[in-house]
Amino acid sequence: MKVYVQTDIEGVAGFCFFENRRSRDYEVINHRYRMYKLLTAEVNAAVKAAFDAGADEVVVNDNHGSGYNILFEELDPRCRIIHGKNCSGPHWLPFLDNTFDAMVLIGMHAMGGTECAITPHSLWKVNNGELYLSECSMAAAIAGDLGVPAVMVSGDDKIASEMRSKIPNIAIAEVKQALSPYQACSMIPAAACELIYEKVKAALKNISEVKPYKLNGPVTLTLLDSADHCPPLEELGEPVTCNTITEAFFKFERAMKWTSFDTLQPDGYSYPQ
Ligand SMILES: [Zn+2]
Repeated sequence: MKVYVQTDIEGVAGFCFFENRRSRDYEVINHRYRMYKLLTAEVNAAVKAAFDAGADEVVVNDNHGSGYNILFEELDPRCRIIHGKNCSGPHWLPFLDNTFDAMVLIGMHAMGGTECAITPHSLWKVNNGELYLSECSMAAAIAGDLGVPAVMVSGDDKIASEMRSKIPNIAIAEVKQALSPYQACSMIPAAACELIYEKVKAALKNISEVKPYKLNGPVTLTLLDSADHCPPLEELGEPVTCNTITEAFFKFERAMKWTSFDTLQPDGYSYPQ
């Protein structure tokens, strides 16, 4: 069994506001490091559960912001991890293909505009508002195009309810309750990791209970967000229409003015196209 662990940090128990990556203040650096440790422990719980459920290959994608958040030296050595500057290579879901049996989503956050959710941001508008996707359900939909079911998610109560409404039988580890965009009532990390371990293990033992989250094409897609992730959200870029959500997602991302995913290195060097 091959398992893909997609990760973010905003949904980890104990996380309730964005890190300031520019600050050199000791308290800020210390706080970031604590968040990295919490994320690492939750990812490790998921990895161990996957192997205990019978996985022979587990790939972790370190997907938040810098793409370099997980303290991989502390991870179970049986897995592999994708990390690095995620604007310089295939920036979303590298290696994911139809040879994977399941996707597991750790540390997920609600879509932009969700009331009373921890740091909600990014809202994908599908077919002019027929459906809205978060980063989490977008990952599940891209996996769905490949026939790979997203079987488990961890995060706050708001992303839990979105995923519950879209994917019947998905296993959910609700590790915190959001009280505002920047305040939560969290499980203590050891308990959150235990819950994640149990949910991942149970989900992978019953993969057939969850169908791949597949959206019918053609799909018209736009992204709504704002520079500082605060409302009001605006449409970023022109809508694109493709036969599948996967094609639309990558076409949209590559067309965005503020980025050069897959073509530009952080030092400004451009790959030949
Ligand atoms: Zn993130």
